[in-house]
Amino acid sequence: MISKSSVENSTESNVAIEDDMPVQLENPYVREKQQCILCKLNIEPDYKNVRLLSQFQSRYTGRIYEKHITGLCEYKQKRVQEEITKAQCAGLMGFMSKKPEYVKDPQLFDPNHPFKPHPF
Ligand SMILES: [Zn+2]
Repeated sequence: MISKSSVENSTESNVAIEDDMPVQLENPYVREKQQCILCKLNIEPDYKNVRLLSQFQSRYTGRIYEKHITGLCEYKQKRVQEEITKAQCAGLMGFMSKKPEYVKDPQLFDPNHPFKPHPF
């Protein structure tokens, strides 16, 4: 039961309540858009950019790392693979080895700790 005094109090403090209204916040639980590293930096793989492509090639076998290791999206992974094949056919990259000067480049990912488990 509301007493008369409390009703009077609430009408008196109406101005204060308006200042106290909830503030519109952005939803803090919205997930960040998932993007692979090449999409995020807006890099288009190119067969002449051997240094970049070498980062997707194994140092020991010269094989191209798969999607679960590189963490690239379907499109970029396909483009990287196409461009590496192109570079290999143009003689810019080795089929079974990586150029020694690129071995010490920073790793974009760790092949021993893939982003996802192996798909099969
Ligand atoms: Zn992507």
